[in-house]
Amino acid sequence: MSAFDDLYAANAKFAKRFADSGLTGRAARGLAVVTCMDSRIDPLGLLGLKAGDAKIIRNAGARVTDDVLRTLVLAVYVLGVERVLVMPHTDCGMAKVTDPDVHALTQERGVDTRSLEFHTVPDQNEALRHDLTRIRSTPFLPQGMPVAGAIYDVHTGRLTPAPF
Ligand SMILES: [Zn+2]
Repeated sequence: MSAFDDLYAANAKFAKRFADSGLTGRAARGLAVVTCMDSRIDPLGLLGLKAGDAKIIRNAGARVTDDVLRTLVLAVYVLGVERVLVMPHTDCGMAKVTDPDVHALTQERGVDTRSLEFHTVPDQNEALRHDLTRIRSTPFLPQGMPVAGAIYDVHTGRLTPAPF
C-alpha cells in the first residue's frame, strides 16, 4: 500500500479507454497560460481548451519567476507558443500571507526558510502589472508578442481581463 495507490488505480482505468490523439508537444492554439496552483482552477475548462491546446505553467500565486521566464522561452521558441495569458485568481492564498508570515509558520515546525523567496502577493493588481512587465520587457522573448493578464474569479467562474 502506498499513498498513491488511488491514483495508480484511477490511471489504470484511464489508460484502458485512452486513445492517442496523435498530437505533438506543440501548443495547438499557440497559447501559454501562467496560473496559480490553486486546486479550484481548471485552466483548460475555464478557457474552452482541451489537452494539446496550450502550455499551462502553474506555481503559487501565478507569479512570473525566473523559472517561469525560462519555461516561456522554451514554450515560444521550441513548442509553438505565440501568446501568453497570466491568470491569477480571487481568494488566492498567496495574497493572504506575507513572506515573513510563511517564514514564521515554518519556523514553528523547526524549519528555516529564510533563504527562499515566496513571492507572496500584498497587492494583486500590482503583482500582475509587475509580472506582465517582466514578460513584456524581457530581452529573451519576441518584441510585440501578445501578453495579457486576467483575474479568474473562483466563485463565479468569470475571467476579468486586466486593463493594463
Ligand atoms: Zn492562488
